[in-house]
Amino acid sequence: MLPDEWKPLLVERGLRAFRADQILQCLYRDYITDWDAATTLPKDFRETLKREFPINVPKLLATDSASDGTVKLLLGLADGASVETVVIPAPGRLTQCVSSQVGCAMGCVFCASGSRGLVRSLTADEIVAEVMAGRQFADAAARARQGSGIGLTNLVVMGMGEPFANYDETMRALKLINAGKGPNLGARHITISTCGIVPGFEKLAAEGLQFELSVSLHAPNDELRSRIMPVNKRWPIDELLSACAAYTRKTGRIITFEYTLVKGLNDSRACAEELVRRLRKLPSCKVNLIPLSPVDHRPDLETPDEATLMMFLDVLMKGRIQTMLRRSRGKDVAAACGQLRLRTEDGK
Ligand code: SAH
Repeated sequence: MLPDEWKPLLVERGLRAFRADQILQCLYRDYITDWDAATTLPKDFRETLKREFPINVPKLLATDSASDGTVKLLLGLADGASVETVVIPAPGRLTQCVSSQVGCAMGCVFCASGSRGLVRSLTADEIVAEVMAGRQFADAAARARQGSGIGLTNLVVMGMGEPFANYDETMRALKLINAGKGPNLGARHITISTCGIVPGFEKLAAEGLQFELSVSLHAPNDELRSRIMPVNKRWPIDELLSACAAYTRKTGRIITFEYTLVKGLNDSRACAEELVRRLRKLPSCKVNLIPLSPVDHRPDLETPDEATLMMFLDVLMKGRIQTMLRRSRGKDVAAACGQLRLRTEDGK
């Protein structure tokens, strides 16, 4: 429930409206996952809450920590499906990556989440529960270090699934996470990443919110992009980049393009040069280069060597495209999207 929705629900049931703020405090500050634990509330009211508003929390099925501090959580949902969320520390920030679906229908070649198709979309409450599980985990870790750590500062919807294929529930969850009386995470600290479902751009622009938008591009032309991302056959690059330009014109927000580099596939100098030519036509944009995280289901796909990464970065920078080379994190955990889930399912 969005914070503003609580008061009318309480009043409808003959309950006092002021309880709404106490409920929100319990859920989002005190991490209450069982109304019995909400001891700040009167006992009979807790009973009413249990009856009227059962809390459905995912089970923590597995965790996997990397030596760089990255922690992956595998959460079990009520129907037995499972999703991954990852907490990634960096100097001065702590980013959580959440899933928007169980599995994914998009089928990008190097993505573990999509390798077995879509199971189902997540509901808004399940996405919020992921965030709360990550926050609680991060806060407990910070407390264990005697407060030297920081709480979560950033959220990226870059886990399993395609957020624009689950638009309404994802947006509802993000609005809640952004709400002052909810987890209160600033909109500019929340990034939505899409594989390029074009109708989503106009919808998001019309929301008038300040969320960051990332677009997975991965190739500079249709021939190559369609081989990597089947979604390109439905919305080819020209159409996608026009939607991006319209989004930036309407919102004033700069889009970041993600480009996963795969050895011998999309990492040539010619690809980099063609990418520069394409992107220079846009009003403004940024590029994040991501070296491939190897995946179990495609052992033939490899990470480019260091010299190739540097060459690609250099061509983009000389082309005056604002570019970052993202170093892969959590290498010793099942780091690529969806891998912990698949390995757990497979009993590894
Ligand atoms: N469906 C959304 C968000 C989830 S994927 C999207 O496509 O943007 C988040 C990012 O991780 C995407 O850019 C995706 O292409 C990339 N990605 C997936 N598997 C990867 C891998 N094995 N190595 C590197 N990047 C990967």
